[in-house]
Amino acid sequence: MKNILTYTLLIVLLAAGRPSVAQPLVQVTHESYDSYYDLSAFNPAVVVWYLDFEDFKGNLKPSTRRFKTDTKLPRPRVKDEDLKGTGYVRGHMCPAGDRDTRKDLLKETYLTSNMTPMTMVCNSGPWKMVEDTCRVLAKRHGKIKIAAGTIFLDDSLGVEYLGRVKVPAAFFRIARCVSHPEHQWIWIVQNSKSSSSPVRVGTNTLQQVLQNRSSVISALKIENLID
Ligand SMILES: [Zn+2]
Repeated sequence: MKNILTYTLLIVLLAAGRPSVAQPLVQVTHESYDSYYDLSAFNPAVVVWYLDFEDFKGNLKPSTRRFKTDTKLPRPRVKDEDLKGTGYVRGHMCPAGDRDTRKDLLKETYLTSNMTPMTMVCNSGPWKMVEDTCRVLAKRHGKIKIAAGTIFLDDSLGVEYLGRVKVPAAFFRIARCVSHPEHQWIWIVQNSKSSSSPVRVGTNTLQQVLQNRSSVISALKIENLID
């Protein structure tokens, strides 16, 4: 059953990978993470950060779960309220749980350059699973570099918009060992309202899925997350 789901997911995603207009990205830098932000989708295209055990051994909790508008982003900017009452939760790319030892770093994960509309099922299911898996990897392998990003369907395939915010069809996540770059993990997670599992894929599949977004692939190469 899982294989059929995987197969269907990839067919849908590959259908989305048709050439279209390249989307402009702007890079926003924070101490917690770097966000390559997609100005046309009002979503992070990819967020990149480092993770080792020291980053998540704390137990700090945010004083508010609202996302603060990232003023480093050019206007017009997405706001926390834009996702309110939409049926989607405000999903983190770089999770708060990866930054729970320092209040300032934790707060940065609640900036809108790190926020995407995510189904509750995805957020508490497969997305949480890959977040947890990466923490296990960081314990086992030492420092790892992570990228989390959005995958969009082509507009002709019926993309959902929440006002101006485009809803991702899926998300990808890459983890790569800093000292052993040959240790690399890539997952695709559907932004689905029904339960699904993370799908492990290789670099080629990820590049095919992202082939209409060459700027994202370039960012991943510059960041040394893919070769
Ligand atoms: Zn390793």
